[in-house]
Amino acid sequence: MVNLDKYSSIFIANWKLNGNYSFLKDYYQKLNVNSDNCTIICSPSIYLKSLKGNNENLFCGAQDVSSYKEGAYTGELSASMLRDNNIDFCLVGHSERRQYFAETNNYVNIKSLNLIEENIIPVICIGETLQQKEKKRTEEILSTQIKESIPNLANHQNALIAYEPVWAIGTGLTPTLDEINQVHELIKNFDTKFRNFKVLYGGSVKSSNSKEINDLNHVDGCLIGGASLNVDEFNIIIS
Ligand code: PEP
Repeated sequence: MVNLDKYSSIFIANWKLNGNYSFLKDYYQKLNVNSDNCTIICSPSIYLKSLKGNNENLFCGAQDVSSYKEGAYTGELSASMLRDNNIDFCLVGHSERRQYFAETNNYVNIKSLNLIEENIIPVICIGETLQQKEKKRTEEILSTQIKESIPNLANHQNALIAYEPVWAIGTGLTPTLDEINQVHELIKNFDTKFRNFKVLYGGSVKSSNSKEINDLNHVDGCLIGGASLNVDEFNIIIS
């Protein structure tokens, strides 16, 4: 398993359903990894084997994994198949999967456990909707997501948490810096076991706001969607 303790910051590119061979060839030629940080590229699974970086701090991540280990589940990829292909990280419970693919906290928990058992680090995504935020339910929603999605076996060395307010994903909107820092502090204080977890922020991170967000004392890195598709922009974020 990747040693998370050695990194001051962790940056994850989530390409979602984007990319092709010429895109990734060009991307990897231009990608400029900073060795103090851990950089993870989550491409669509079919391209994971083709992602070749020549930097020990550059890793591949999947965007999802099956909750099943094997069997008659057409179209699925298991955690052990990801391990077989040297994948070190996997997003779990991204809000797009929760919204469009009915992924519940229970599934997120099972998937995360399967990944940990295969020495793959799950990046467990949590976050409130705009309606929940407006009703001041953020703390309650995050608390439930944490209790139900994070397996008991998870710890700060084998799992990551990503706080991604649903209303900030792909919208250009972000919480204030104070709000981000306070929510991250809240997450780390839900239980003593979370105190040392690395908590990443995701939601409309770009080169113009990444430094101020990542510099917040309770933020340990960023999960970047749209802006990660532009390698020049991503290079500035991870520099
Ligand atoms: C994401 O996909 O996790 C994400 C944070 O997207 P964006 O950066 O585009 O808001």
